Formats: sequence, structure tokens, C-alpha cells
Amino acid sequence: MENGILAAMARGGFERVLALHDRRSGVRGYMAIHDTSVGPALGGVRRWVYRSDEEALRDCMRLARAMTLKCCLGGVDAGGVKTVLLDHPEVDWEAAYEYLGRVIEGLGGVVSCGPDVGTGERELAWIARETHHVTRPGARGPGRLSAATAEGVFRGMQAALEHLDGEADWPRRHVVIQGLGAVGRVLAERLLGAGVRGAGTELDPERAGAAEELGVELLDPTRELGEECDVFAPCALGGILHDLSIPRLRARIIAGSANNPLARGGHADALHERGVLYVPDFVISAGALMRGAHFHLERRRKPLGHIGERIGATVQGVLERAAAEGSSPQRLAVHEAERLLEERRADPLPAEPLAPS
Ligand code: NAD
Repeated sequence: MENGILAAMARGGFERVLALHDRRSGVRGYMAIHDTSVGPALGGVRRWVYRSDEEALRDCMRLARAMTLKCCLGGVDAGGVKTVLLDHPEVDWEAAYEYLGRVIEGLGGVVSCGPDVGTGERELAWIARETHHVTRPGARGPGRLSAATAEGVFRGMQAALEHLDGEADWPRRHVVIQGLGAVGRVLAERLLGAGVRGAGTELDPERAGAAEELGVELLDPTRELGEECDVFAPCALGGILHDLSIPRLRARIIAGSANNPLARGGHADALHERGVLYVPDFVISAGALMRGAHFHLERRRKPLGHIGERIGATVQGVLERAAAEGSSPQRLAVHEAERLLEERRADPLPAEPLAPS
């Protein structure tokens, strides 16, 4: 990490970064708390195989900051946190998630965690044995978060099509989804229901088979970027849009749920110069955060329709302003979110820990 972790924290405006190690379960990882100036920090727990500790830390910090930006543009009175756990076959995962629950409990309510890649309902239930500050699955929780994300992506996609062509005209559209997991599958159902010709890629054979049964045309997982389509929806992992992949793209619009699909911020400008409309990931993928935060802060479930509407309107606003200013939508959205963050930090709310659910 360039100039070390403390310099990276200062550059990105982080409050705390914790290095995690539990002797009993063998788990190691990081938790990056980006911002708690107007409310608790909310964010998922990612379990993944990283090539190095440094790669894990960098991913953790990028994802935590993106959560704060999501809160700012999503109108959520909370900030961002992310936890990454290094996947390893010798870890006792049940004990590992219980340990994480104790870490979160020890933070006294300034952090609440939810699902992410590698952490689903089973793992959240293990965390919930030790703390209330976790998204609860089932009837006691905020409802299906991935469905909220998929709805936001669908409505954001619609806003992008309307921005370019004046109408969504779904039955004429071809959409390619990378990753048919929790979000990608629901998004595929929604798109197929609207009459779209849907194609996708998925590395897990079981999930691929299930999507094919829905009517999704399966593509070879090396072909999705080169497929000519209206919209490419990245719904797998981040970092897929870079110097080598961008020239291969044949989509007019990129709009998906994956966090940080751009390898670097500058790649948004590269897409803009090629005439590809990139819908900022932290704007379009805010559905789960909005639903989870609403439940935590107000103890009510926010209907999917409201979430989709809000995200669609925000995407529309960002695209219109970016076009008027000749900027890439990503650059404009980051700028706007940072401006809102400065406003929050200039007028912080007294730190109030989240009440137990
Ligand atoms: P998931 O793990 O359920 O699904 C991801 C799927 O992508 C998996 O089935 C995996 O096999 C597949 N995959 C991985 N690499 C692939 C590749 N190269 N090609 C094709 N398929 C590949 O995760 P999810 O909850 O659906 O989340 C998807 C993305 O959206 C993640 O980046 C996540 O951080 C982001 N996101 C999710 C939510 C949510 O509500 N779940 C909210 C915001 C952002």
C-alpha cells in the first residue's frame, strides 16, 4: 500500500481500520470503518480468497468508502464499513463468525453488518449469536436484500435506456448479466418478465443451470464482454473493467450490482471517451443498503417499489447532469457524494449507537 496504511486512511478519510485475528477459529481479516459522522456505519462481510493481505486490505477500504458514498446519494443517515475475511480451508467458520460477532458487539453499536459475497443467512445467524448489530434473516429482518438491489438495478437500467433512447422499450433489448447469483438471478427474472432477451455467465454450474431453466441464454464465461448488447450488467465481482477488458466491450450501457467493477476510478473516463454509458455502481446498487438501513433506523420495511423509484430518479439526475456538464457520470456522482459527505462532516449528528433489534 502506497506510503502505508495510515497515509491511505488519511487520504480516504477513514476513521478506523481493524486487523482481525482469532486464535481459536484461525480466521484473519480486516474491518474498515469509513464514516460515522451522521449515523452508524453499515456494510457487508465479504469472505474471499485474496492473493495477499495487502490486496484484502485495499479491497476492504475501497468497499467501505463506496458504502459511505452509497449512503450519501441514497439519502441514508449512515456511513460505510466493510469487513473482509480471508477464505482458507482450515478456518472453523462457525467459530469465526461468532468471533466477528463479538468484535462488532465490542464496538458498541457504531457498526452493523450484513451480507456480501461469501456471507449469507447461515453466517449472519452465527454472528447474531453474539451481537444484535447484524442484519437478521427471515421474518425478524428487513426482508430480501438482494431483491432490493436487483430492483434498483432494473430501475437504474431503465433510466439509462430512457436517457439514451427516450424509452426503455424492453422487448427490443438484449441484456447480458455476469454472475447469476443472489442479485443476478432476481435481476434476470425481472428482465425476462419485461420481455428482454437475457443472456448471462455463471461459474457455478448449479446456479448456471437454474438460470438457464428460467430462460437465460448461457454464454461462455470468457465471452460476456465481447457480446453485442444494449446493457452489460456486472453482478459478480469487482475490478473487471480495466485497460485490457474495456476495448473488448460491445455494450452501450454498463449497469449492474457489482461493487467497484472499475479497476481504477480513471476507467470511468475511458468508458466515457468510448461512448459507453457507465451507470455509477454505488448509485445503482444501493437497494440493499437502503432497505437494510431503513429497517435498522426506523424498524420498518421499505417497499421495493419505493427503493426502485428513488434509485431510478437518482440515476436519471446523475446522467442528465453529467451530460449537461460533459463529465462522466461516475466522476459527477463521486463529486456530488463527496460534497454531501463534507456537508455531513461539517454538521455531524451526536454519535448514537444503534438500538438493539
Ligand atoms: P453472489 O455471491 O450470490 O453471486 C455472485 C455470483 O457471481 C456467484 O454465483 C459466482 O459464482 C458468480 N461469479 C463470480 N465470478 C464470476 C465470473 N467471472 N463470471 C461469471 N460469474 C461469476 O453475490 P450477490 O449477492 O449476487 O452480489 C453480486 C455482486 O453485487 C457483488 O459484487 C456484491 O458485492 C454486489 N452487491 C450485492 C448486493 C446484495 O444485495 N446482495 C448489494 C450491493 C452490491
